[in-house]
Amino acid sequence: MRLGLDIGSRIISAAILSDGGEFLCLKQASTPADSYLNTLSTISKLIADITAEIPYDDVIGVAVPGFVHEGVAQNSFLDSLNDKHLQADLQASLGRHVVLANSGACFTLWEARHGRAKDVDCVFGMLIDDSSWGGLVIDNKLIRGRHDIAANWSHIPLPWPVPHELDGHECWCGRAACLDSFVSARGMEDDYFQITNTQLSATAIATAADAIDIVAESALQVLEDRIGRATALIINMVDPDVIVLGGAVGRFERLLTTVPRKWPGYIHGAKFKTQLVQSATGDNAVVAGAALLNS
Ligand SMILES: [Zn+2]
Repeated sequence: MRLGLDIGSRIISAAILSDGGEFLCLKQASTPADSYLNTLSTISKLIADITAEIPYDDVIGVAVPGFVHEGVAQNSFLDSLNDKHLQADLQASLGRHVVLANSGACFTLWEARHGRAKDVDCVFGMLIDDSSWGGLVIDNKLIRGRHDIAANWSHIPLPWPVPHELDGHECWCGRAACLDSFVSARGMEDDYFQITNTQLSATAIATAADAIDIVAESALQVLEDRIGRATALIINMVDPDVIVLGGAVGRFERLLTTVPRKWPGYIHGAKFKTQLVQSATGDNAVVAGAALLNS
């Protein structure tokens, strides 16, 4: 068995999986707003609850919406985690060893070992949600990089920008024009708000586009072109066999056909063999991947 924990921006999940990747137990709680100590105590309670149901005393894998280098959280979408010694504090509060990695890395590890990219040599994962993250798995091994930021596609600038995209677009990370500020649920919602002065969720915008709302359709087409550019950049740099999309935005089904149509404009070559697929595990792919960190 393995135990994973996902510190999500809205929900914290704990899951125990069998060695074969089957979910045996899943427990969730709301993520405390802006309090590191409350986050630690919520995690302690979740782990106590789930291990009361299924006894487990081994290492816990933890997914973080940010980077963890030498045990310290950095560039986290959950600001309360930033600059905290998260590994040491979790180990002290849980009384056991923990292994941490970025949410996108955990997502990709799951998809490469048990999900839509199983038995594939080189897998790049793109988790497109409230914040967006990436992961790279080669030969079933998670590539972390020298600074634990491998596959950080979402905090580099939007490639091949058109002039109006160069104005503004502050990213929550403190920099400007990051891909995350365009290619994320929040980025899409901000774009829609700028045009309509109406606040709609990314999922509601996609639903409206399906119902032939012209403005929503236009917003979705702009997003698709930006994901097309982001994936083209990844193919130019990494050239993976498979790119797996996940998260609230990554699961829009039409992306599978609309995004590869953008590639000829941004990638040299005539016939593209990279497969674009979508996670079949939904939001739980991240906690499942976290459980695999200790393997
Ligand atoms: Zn950024």
